Parts: sequence; C-alpha cells; structure tokens
Amino acid sequence: LETVAGVAPDVARAIVAELADQRGNIKLIASENYSSLATQLAMGNLLTDKYAEGIPHHRFYAGCDNVDAVEDLANARACELFGAEHAYAQPHSGADANMVAFWAILRARVELPAMAEILGLENAAALAPADWNKMPLEQWNKVRVALGSQRLLGMDLASGGHLTHGYRLNVSGKMFEAHGYTVDRETFLLDYDAIENQALEVRPLILLAGFSAYPRNINYRRMREIADKVGAVLMVDMAHFSGLVAGKVLTGDEDPLAFADVVTTTTHKTLRGPRGGLVLCKKEFAEHVDRGCPLVLGGPLPHVMAAKAVAFTEALRPEFKTYAAKIVENSRALAEAFVSVGLNVISGGTDNHLVLVDVASALGVTGRQAEDAVRRCGITLNRNPIPFDPNGPWYTSGLRFGTPAVTTLGMGRAEMREIAEVVHLVLTHIVPAEGKSGGKDKAKYTLDQAAEKQASDRVAKL
Ligand code: PLP
Repeated sequence: LETVAGVAPDVARAIVAELADQRGNIKLIASENYSSLATQLAMGNLLTDKYAEGIPHHRFYAGCDNVDAVEDLANARACELFGAEHAYAQPHSGADANMVAFWAILRARVELPAMAEILGLENAAALAPADWNKMPLEQWNKVRVALGSQRLLGMDLASGGHLTHGYRLNVSGKMFEAHGYTVDRETFLLDYDAIENQALEVRPLILLAGFSAYPRNINYRRMREIADKVGAVLMVDMAHFSGLVAGKVLTGDEDPLAFADVVTTTTHKTLRGPRGGLVLCKKEFAEHVDRGCPLVLGGPLPHVMAAKAVAFTEALRPEFKTYAAKIVENSRALAEAFVSVGLNVISGGTDNHLVLVDVASALGVTGRQAEDAVRRCGITLNRNPIPFDPNGPWYTSGLRFGTPAVTTLGMGRAEMREIAEVVHLVLTHIVPAEGKSGGKDKAKYTLDQAAEKQASDRVAKL
C-alpha cells in the first residue's frame, strides 16, 4: 500500500479505511465474504495488463500463453469443483455471466435455427462468423425478431429473485418477455405445482431458478421436470449459494449441476473468491457459452481469472466442506435465536446461508430504519423487500442476514445468539419519526441512546 500511497494517498487512505470498516464491524451481508490473501494477491498484479479476447489457445492477440494457462486452470478447477461438463471463467460479474448464458441459450435454440430456416440450410452452426455480417439486413431483421420474441420464467424480484432475472429496469426484462413466479402467500415457500401451471401457460424458452433473498433450498429435480414438460432450457443462477454446492452441502435433488442445462454464479459470495462470474454448462451449450466474447464481453480479466483459479483450489480442499456446513449451521442458529427473541422470520427459518426478517409487521419500523440503526451499533447488513412487501423495494419491510463472512471469521452458535440478541435490542428501541403528512416517516427515526451504547459495546466484544 505504500506504493499506492506514493501515487495516490487519498486512494490508499480509502483502502485502509475500508479495511478498518470491514474488520471493525460485523459483516452480515449475505452476498459478501472475506477472500483469502492468496486470492487477493493473485488478482492484484501484472496480469491485468494483458488483452486476451477469444478462448484459451484460440485468441485474437499474440502472447497469450500464460493467460491460456491461467484460464485453463480456472476452467478445469471449476469443472472439478462442481462436477460440470464445461466451464467458462471469463464473465466479469454475475450479471455478465447471466447475460452470456442467456445469449448462448438464445444462440443455440433460436438464432441458429432461425438462420438455418431463413437461409434454407441444414445447419447454420457451420456458417463462418463473416456470414453473419454478409446476411442481407432484411433477413437479419427476421432473426432479430425471433430473438426478441422469447419468454423467460424466473423468480420475481419481489419474492427474492434477482434484477437480472427479468426485471424490467434490467436488460433481461427488455430482451425477453419476462414472467415471474412467486412464493406462497402463507408459507413464503415456492409452490412447484403453481410454477408448473404457470410454465404450462407461459411456455418459456428458459425456466430460471435461483435467487438473492430466498431462505430455502430449491428442488432442482422438480424444476427439471417442469422444464421438460414445457420444452424449456433449465438455467440455474447459484450466485448466492455456489459455496454450498462446492462444499457439498447441497446434494441430490438440491444440486443444481445434476439437473440444469446451464448454471451461472458469482465467485465472490459463499464461494469466497474474487469478485467475478462463471458459467457452467452441459456440452450442448459449451461452444455457444465460449462465445461470451464477442456475444456480450470484450477482453477477459486475466488477473481475476487467476484469482478464481486460486479460490477454486481452496474450495477443493476438505476444509471448505467444513466451512460450507458451518455457514448453514450458523444461519440456522441465527434464525432460531431470532425466533426465540420474538422476531418474525420469513418462512419460519432457513435452509441456507441467509435469514430474512420482517421488521415492519410486529415492530412498526422499515428495513431502511433498521439497517441504519444496526449499522450505528457496528453491524453491517442490508435491508431487503419481503415477499408482497407493502413498503416497496426502497424502504422495505425486511432485513437480510447472511452468515458466510462471520463463518469465515470462525464464529459459531454462541456468537449467532449474541448477534440475534443485539439486533433485537436495537430493533426494539427504534422510534420512527412523525411523517410530514401524518403517519410515520419511513426513513427518519431516533434510537434510544442507552440501547445504542449497550448494543455497540456488545458488538465490540464479538
Ligand atoms: N445473480 C444473483 C442471484 C445475485 O444475487 C447477484 C448479485 O447480487 C447477481 C446475479 C449479480 O452479480 P454481480 O453483482 O456480480 O453482477
């Protein structure tokens, strides 16, 4: 950091301040973790200086031998870790990975068949890339119309899905006619029969499973059955729980790799690698996924692929299984402790790394107020909509808690109990301010000073 400080001391100060923040507060953001020093060093180096468009051993730049080695290692270790037929480690983020997957599926199932039909060919895959640009605009526009009229069925954002699963403010909701399935109003659990009925009605090209804020596991065997019934491609976005898959906590019907055609993930959440994305797929989609550049991406990030390879190596070690099992043990302990102090836990508990708590219905505060108040006491987490949230996605009625980072720090049941009690103490001492036009303000509040002091002292001891 001295070198950074020599060039840009203000940047170095921000990095040091962030270190203090991440070490000085309890990190309960479900999508965050602490990557290892080996991962960070593999990422922070001269590999960033290299361009390597293409795939290993088939590049559009000279001098890519070492990047080839790095990318081969990342892909091979990803395949070994997840039991995948094919891996593509280039996506810069989870959103990029989803975009690569969507366009690869569209290419395989819509674009090539449409081109074959329009051009009267047996097999459009045999066309050379140059033929795309040679196609008369009138014919190409027919392909574009076919691509633009496809349907996606994924979990809706309000029920715990992700922005990239068809939200209209995201490109996924613009390129697809997107439909969302939701959870049951009473149990807050997925209702597979209802999803099946919806799939029969919608007839999607892609049935998408995966989430950012659903505290339960998914039955992928059942999702596969539904996809097969309607001829859909089954895609799973395991961004949040890929560490639990790698650590063999999710097996059998809960292992997405056993059932999905295409699986995407981030590499920085439960998986504990560098910030980035990854696509895994069956052989059928491999050559299409490998066209992530030029489909969606430009040059890959060789330094991040090196860090992915390091993190996957770490995840292949036996200790990673212990860590993954402990994430869920801690999450369950946290949920049980919340229930025992009287907080309203969505779906009554958790099967995975996250716990969703409704702070509005019983305590009368918003997620926004709750998030801010616990942060004042040294706990960093995020507010989150609960299913059918009356407070909308900005103020929200919920808090999302995740145990990956505290598990990496070595915390266990006793600490989870203490965290639950401290959170309860803070939440029950928030007094929402009066709103301008009657009712309560959704952002402003006061926090009882004695409770704040007591909570902060207890957090500092953790
Ligand atoms: N998919 C899911 C399910 C996610 O939760 C997230 C991020 O929170 C993403 C994709 C996007 O990942 P990124 O932020 O790396 O683009």
